[in-house]
Amino acid sequence: MNKSIIHKAALSLNLSQSELDKLLHYENVLEKDIEVELDSGEIATFPAFRVQHNSVRGPYKGGIRFHPQVNLDEVKILSSLMTWKCAVVNIPMGGGKGGVIVDYKQLSKNEQEKLSRGYMKTFFNHLGPDKDIPAPDVNTNEQNMAWMMDEYNNLAGYENPGCVTGKPINLFGSEVRDIATSLGGKHVVDRLLKSLSLNSCPIRVAIQGIGNVGGGLAELLAGDDKYKVVAISDSKGGIYKEDLNVDNVLAHKRQTGSIQNQNISNSELLELDVDLLVLAALEDQITENNAPNIKAKIILELANNPITEVADKILESMGITVVPDILANAGGVTVSYFEWIQNNANEYWSEDKVKDELEQVMRQATIGVMNIIQAQGVSWRLASYIVALDRVNQAMKLKEVIV
Ligand code: NAD
Repeated sequence: MNKSIIHKAALSLNLSQSELDKLLHYENVLEKDIEVELDSGEIATFPAFRVQHNSVRGPYKGGIRFHPQVNLDEVKILSSLMTWKCAVVNIPMGGGKGGVIVDYKQLSKNEQEKLSRGYMKTFFNHLGPDKDIPAPDVNTNEQNMAWMMDEYNNLAGYENPGCVTGKPINLFGSEVRDIATSLGGKHVVDRLLKSLSLNSCPIRVAIQGIGNVGGGLAELLAGDDKYKVVAISDSKGGIYKEDLNVDNVLAHKRQTGSIQNQNISNSELLELDVDLLVLAALEDQITENNAPNIKAKIILELANNPITEVADKILESMGITVVPDILANAGGVTVSYFEWIQNNANEYWSEDKVKDELEQVMRQATIGVMNIIQAQGVSWRLASYIVALDRVNQAMKLKEVIV
């Protein structure tokens, strides 16, 4: 977690030390082992976590990642990020996150199902539609959510589609969830650009990572004349070309798993002279080592934590506008929230309705952050944290018992 930004936001809000301590407190940190009988008959044990940071504004909400490098500290940081993310876009959810230490891709489909069901069974007492609602994250997808929902329902004894989100469309999932994060990010950038007097048109864009989120945004930008995507990369390298055909690059990537005609490395992509750099891959991509070489005017953090704390300060001193993850990628959790509303009401929305509602949430959130920037002259990141901490702190104060 970028601790200094939380402290700066607390300072700007005049929070007392005890208010800040409450905001930083984790309500539940759960560590358990999940046992899975492998196809070989051997029993494997996987360490698993669920961290519930703060539920003052609503049930905990956050993904589950299956990865060999998952650790408790990371899950804690990501759970608090969810609290701030839900608060900055003002959806009534709190922050949670889960993880399992596992080399997931080495498991057979049968073992993957057992692990997913095992996670739900292990944390069943702490999860549920009104308590804590998991979603997909690294190496988990709609299939894992379908298994988890089924397991939850078996244990509960009745149907609760709202116990997890990110489910398949024909099993209580929501329209638009697949592109929600990318679309939400685009709404923020569209509004930011309106407020700036950038002379360049179209806006030249480089995108690091063309998975769900980066690929989705590349497609959306390719369909909008205001933007021109000139560079794209994945984990193996990238392509830079002024007349890049995004649809062809994505189609080739889908067919073969890689980018054709690669001519730049990942690190070169980050340092290209573009108007907008989109970080849609992993954490810690811009560090103190490469921050001084960044030439983009605006950076959009679609990934979580892609810029280190030190690098963030360097970029700020260079006058680069960084739209932080808690705002930039909040479209995903927003449509997850819509999925939960639809499940609870047993009523399903059209694609247009989901898109309209998402646009409204992202517009309000962006305007709220921009108002703070205008009033206080602070960065996008600090303004976003000021909005988020203020909302959570106010909710906590309203619930306090006065003695
Ligand atoms: P994904 O696995 O579909 O895509 C990740 C992409 O990054 C892949 O194309 C991979 O090849 C590429 N990549 C990996 N290492 C790279 C490197 N060093 N340089 C360039 N590219 C690299 O994942 P995703 O769902 O698109 O998520 C991407 C990021 O966005 C993650 O940080 C995730 O936590 C965050 N995020 C995702 C969502 C969502 O809705 N999927 C929501 C919020 C945040």
